[in-house]
Amino acid sequence: MSKYITMIGLEMHCEISETKSKVFSSAENSYKSTPNVNVRPIDMGFPGTLPVVNKEAVRMALMTSMMLGCSQPEYMYFERKNYYYPDMPKNFQITQETKPIPVGIYGKLEYECNGEMKSVRINNIHLEEDAASQDHYSTYSTIDYNRACVPLLELVTEPDFRSADEAVAFLETMRSIYQYAGISEADSKKGQIRCDVNVSIMDADKDPSDPKNWGTKVEMKNVNSFSGVRDAINYEIKRQTELKEDGTYDEMEQQTRRWDEETMSTIYMRAKVDAIDYRYFVEPNIPKYKLSKEWLEEIRKSIPRLAMERKQEYIDKYGLSNYDATILVKEKAVSDFYEETIKLGSDPKIASNWVTSVILGHMNKNDLKISDLYITPTMLNDLIKMVNDGKISSKQSKEIFYKVLSDKKEPKVLVEELGMKQIGDDNTIRELVCKVLDEHLDLIEEHRKGRNVFDYFVGQVMKATRGQANPSLTAQIIREEIEKR
Ligand code: ADP
Ligand code: MG
Repeated sequence: MSKYITMIGLEMHCEISETKSKVFSSAENSYKSTPNVNVRPIDMGFPGTLPVVNKEAVRMALMTSMMLGCSQPEYMYFERKNYYYPDMPKNFQITQETKPIPVGIYGKLEYECNGEMKSVRINNIHLEEDAASQDHYSTYSTIDYNRACVPLLELVTEPDFRSADEAVAFLETMRSIYQYAGISEADSKKGQIRCDVNVSIMDADKDPSDPKNWGTKVEMKNVNSFSGVRDAINYEIKRQTELKEDGTYDEMEQQTRRWDEETMSTIYMRAKVDAIDYRYFVEPNIPKYKLSKEWLEEIRKSIPRLAMERKQEYIDKYGLSNYDATILVKEKAVSDFYEETIKLGSDPKIASNWVTSVILGHMNKNDLKISDLYITPTMLNDLIKMVNDGKISSKQSKEIFYKVLSDKKEPKVLVEELGMKQIGDDNTIRELVCKVLDEHLDLIEEHRKGRNVFDYFVGQVMKATRGQANPSLTAQIIREEIEKR
């Protein structure tokens, strides 16, 4: 047992990527590598512009609130967080941080960590606008307003995580929820997920449910990858434990640090006492409005099947193992691909074998997404069907699979082109077998004397058909025909 308990609370920011336009602006909401193309005057803070609330963003925010078991507000309104910074040219951010009841409060989420179910309390989730993005060079900086005013959900947890593993498992669960609900791609490579990570440690013999016993938290701002979250937490646990052992931990003041990828360490930024007063007040340009019970009910009913539910279904309905089902639901796109293949008629277990071993194996090896592959559920279903119907052997189907990807041609076309049909027709094979036997009457004699020439005959038929004869059927017919003679 460790002498200390670690307490970790996360503030997870996730951009909503699936609305057409931004949260308070009519500019397109989509990821663009070309800077400053998704921009309307309000995104640049031009005077006289007014925000218009995007109903779809509010709907998605409320849906997230429901999926996290939060309570929803009766009224929606926003507030201004005032500060000056080039990435926020209006000089304030529209958010819901202090007074307004945000889209969700006081929820709870169950998540799986290393095979165990864990639970975290959600303090709140609120909807706000993202800032523009800046890039800094040696003598100048650039600014890209594409990200300005993109809808952003900020989720604040209670400090219920006890390890880096738990924090990361939670983040992975949230990413999956956002993807399955069609709210966000939640792609950290596109900067859509950013976290503030709060860490403290306390004596293990004290009661962690009483906040009086908690240690002084250290906040790490804007960690932008899950591996960064893991490393930053583990680094802080080690650093804070050393301070405890030194006896200097209790003198430490609440502080903000930064996770530095290069040195793999956290760097002091500022003390909490220097905290800025943002002078929050209710955003006067967005009237407070009531959320109707009917609309909330409609949103609740439209919550789609999430990963957990799909996984259970794969186990109960299709008889898949927990292991395979877990792999299949990890990415929504993969789970969708699998379900579509089954809908087309493929056997769930055979399709699962294909997706979990062949397709995912190829994706992992080459660092590809399923959408990068030329193969579609229809093509996979065709391949499976051709094996089932005895048209090609299962070995041939694997060959075709890789050719589909490399040549970008449909399985049916490739099978035709390569003349790769399995001969499974009794009469055709029998004819060939008889011909081979007739040519080797001497060997049949030898066979009767006890020499094993069986494999030789199978080999001859295979040679005559360029490996296309169904092997088990061929063997069976050879046996029958030798018997007859
Ligand atoms: P602040 O007033 O500094 O914003 P909050 O109470 O709003 O602090 O909490 C911000 C985040 O810090 C939350 O995720 C919360 O769970 C976490 N947190 C609060 N206290 C601690 C602590 N002692 N140790 C670790 N995390 C904490
Ligand atoms: Mg706070």
